[in-house]
Amino acid sequence: MIDAHRVTLAAPDDFDGWRDKARDLAEAGVPASAAVWQVVGGEADLFASESHQPPAPSFPVPRAFVELARDVICHSDPERFALLYGMLLRLKANRHALDDEADPLVRRLQDLAKAVRRDIHKMHAFVRFRELDDRFVAFFEPEHHIIRRAAAFFVNRFTNMRWSILTPELSIHWDGRALREGPGATRSDAPSGDPLEETWRTYYASIFNPARLKLGAMLKEMPKKYWRNMPETSLVQPLIAGAQAREAEMIQRSSADATVVRDGLKHALDAERAIEPGGNFRASWEALLKDARKCTRCELYKPATQTVFGEGPLDASIMFVGEQPGDQEDIAGRPFVGPAGQLFDAALEKAGIDRASVYVTNAVKHFKFVPRGKKRIHSKPGAGEIEACRWWIEHERELLRPPVTVALGATAAQSLFGKTMAIGKNRGAPMKLADGSECWITVHPSFLLRIPEEDRRREERALFIRDLKRIKARAEELAR
Ligand code: SF4
Repeated sequence: MIDAHRVTLAAPDDFDGWRDKARDLAEAGVPASAAVWQVVGGEADLFASESHQPPAPSFPVPRAFVELARDVICHSDPERFALLYGMLLRLKANRHALDDEADPLVRRLQDLAKAVRRDIHKMHAFVRFRELDDRFVAFFEPEHHIIRRAAAFFVNRFTNMRWSILTPELSIHWDGRALREGPGATRSDAPSGDPLEETWRTYYASIFNPARLKLGAMLKEMPKKYWRNMPETSLVQPLIAGAQAREAEMIQRSSADATVVRDGLKHALDAERAIEPGGNFRASWEALLKDARKCTRCELYKPATQTVFGEGPLDASIMFVGEQPGDQEDIAGRPFVGPAGQLFDAALEKAGIDRASVYVTNAVKHFKFVPRGKKRIHSKPGAGEIEACRWWIEHERELLRPPVTVALGATAAQSLFGKTMAIGKNRGAPMKLADGSECWITVHPSFLLRIPEEDRRREERALFIRDLKRIKARAEELAR
């Protein structure tokens, strides 16, 4: 009889702990059947029953196995540690063992890894934050132990926000600098609504297209278990019911002739497809604009005249993001209409870009200024204001999904990338935003206005136009 080797890991997703112990056991020649794995405070895994060959001396492990094991460790299957250890022993005997896809153990591990990756994807897609005091809080119930693995996505995407994600097993809290872990929580610990809940619902209602309704696919992609945490899902049943009623009505109207029924339905659905996208986007954008006009997320709304939101076609292939409205924009309620806006228009024209074809907005939607006599002198927005207003630019981008976004100046770049970006080092070439879309960085037109020396001013304007030409070419290339 073989003595059992009991191994206790610090956490259900303790990959490093598993790797170290598994290596020691393998080198000591402990067969898989003799290793009993458990997590601190958890039940022992008594499934270590597959028998495997005794190990050879110290051995290299393929990188593919390490990557596979990192995923598999996060699965909730209590056998995962033993299965991985069994695979490790096989690799010791044959370093190509992982290539045998017909091997049931290899297939099982791949399935576990796939389930974990799917769960991470669901968490990225279905977490919905609600505002609570000074932070955003979300509740989520993953199927596997993925919260630490999924956290990096939220840190990158919401770097400048303070947020918490609560799960039954573990909570994570981000304060803008570091991640902290806390105990698990229940749904009742998270807020159930916030002032923007209605915007989410308006947005969802307006993008819902009954002509494209495929209930099976929808449930597969967005399983019902996640619905409780997503404000828009309260609309799904009424919208589906409405869509079915409309379809039934269409059929009834044309019931005299089967061909007419088919053609009538097809035409009606085609027409709906043709007209809905524009209407949907417009309604969603208007809902967003309405909420932004009431925004009090930072102090800048107090002295300013009004929110200056973005403008331009909602299907624009380029979205330009400036810093904040200036004195004239604040009064007009439109972005880029002051001196910097006029310079911008002239540069766009030189680059062959029609201003009417692009969407133009700002990272900060209210004018920040210092009063000096009768004048209001522009004042650079602070990190807190950029962070607060990032909420709106994120929503504008999410709605428009422009193929190319352009950060005009450091404030816009900081808002879009969630961190300080050097203009000189990063301008002139495409970069990737956290959502994978393309972003270019260049200077803000107001920078060009402030250059005192004529030669340098001319030089910098030429560089700006060069950047715009490259951006135009790239947008055209992506549109092909
Ligand atoms: S600057 Fe942005 S975050 Fe601040 S109040 Fe205005 S719209 Fe809201």
